[in-house]
Amino acid sequence: MSLANGRSYLAIPGPSVIPDAVLRAMHRASPNIYEGELHDLTDSLIPDLKAVAMTDQNVAIYIGNGHAAWEAALANTLTAGDTVLVLATGRFCIGWGEMAADMGIKVQTIDCGDAAPIDLEQVEGALRADTGRKIKAILTVHVDTSTSVKNDIAGLRCVLDAAGHDALLMADCIASLGCDQFEMDAWGVDVMVSACQKGLMTPAGISFVWYNAKADAVRPARVSRYWDWRARTDPDQYFQYFNGTAPTHHLYGLRTALDMIKAEGLDAVFARHETLARTVWAALDCWATDGPIALNIADPANRSHAVTSVVAGSPNGDALRRWCEHEAGLTLGIGLGRSPADAYFRIGHMGHVNAHMIMGVLGTMQAGLIALDIQHGAGALDAAARVIAAG
Ligand SMILES: *Cc1c(COP(=O)(O)O)cnc(C)c1O
Repeated sequence: MSLANGRSYLAIPGPSVIPDAVLRAMHRASPNIYEGELHDLTDSLIPDLKAVAMTDQNVAIYIGNGHAAWEAALANTLTAGDTVLVLATGRFCIGWGEMAADMGIKVQTIDCGDAAPIDLEQVEGALRADTGRKIKAILTVHVDTSTSVKNDIAGLRCVLDAAGHDALLMADCIASLGCDQFEMDAWGVDVMVSACQKGLMTPAGISFVWYNAKADAVRPARVSRYWDWRARTDPDQYFQYFNGTAPTHHLYGLRTALDMIKAEGLDAVFARHETLARTVWAALDCWATDGPIALNIADPANRSHAVTSVVAGSPNGDALRRWCEHEAGLTLGIGLGRSPADAYFRIGHMGHVNAHMIMGVLGTMQAGLIALDIQHGAGALDAAARVIAAG
């Protein structure tokens, strides 16, 4: 007998849970795109998008997923033949580098593996060795969703400055924005990309590029009209925001999501994510005391508060995921980019997530471990409950 009927729950690292209020905001007739409310609403998003990124710089919105923001960031700053330094800590930064390579950009990679953050010393060595100043930009990911590592972006800025290197610092915050603290201006980030379907709780379909004056100044001789961030940032006419038709309903959804973040307060949003992440880790630490289950990232300081990658041994990762899906209505994330993929799974805990949702995920996983006879340590749910109880 399956116990999956009832409200299903997607606990993957994006798309995340969409709040009912966001869904309601989107459930409307097509608005007037020529004037009025939609224009005011779009204008109102700009300061709030800057606020979540903690920047006074510029932001451009694209109709597209995170991959669109990746391409936009590259197209506005680099030319074929330029070199970028990719700091790989999982699948996503490698993917951004592959996109750069597709655009004719030369890619130099420092691969830090699948279970460790960026090695800042190695980065400093590569920058100092670049005496010809060939490296035009560093591509890095704040939280790599495949490994759930969180990188020290402020530390990277210090390394760039110590090496006296003027490469642009470009950060992917697609998984982390609105979950893990990120401060674009204070941390000296030149370009940041994100998308709406993770911490921003809106259906996938719009993405963003924040950029400072330094990044704008290196503009290549030719920038495609579509990707050009300038008109989108400072439009004379409304259609220039999106270089065509506005993503009308997404804008209403995003407005509501940003209102929810403002109402809770960004610091409270970060604190909630941190406590819920520690709840997940507490359970995993117990399961890990006996058997194959382990947290992918050993040091809590290097772990994301938005997603947790779990080592489960092959084929336990896939087996547990399938059991949760088919027997209990819970969808966990696949072992994306890992080999063998069935030895891993991921838990998304980003965005519209609270204590009972996390306890539900952990309780369901506990049932799956028992049902599948996967060896595990005892006391996980008690340990998780103690973190919630402490607040
Ligand atoms: C989800 C994600 C992406 C890809 O975003 P899409 O919207 O699927 O294109 C890129 N980078 C990171 C870190 C992500 O978490």
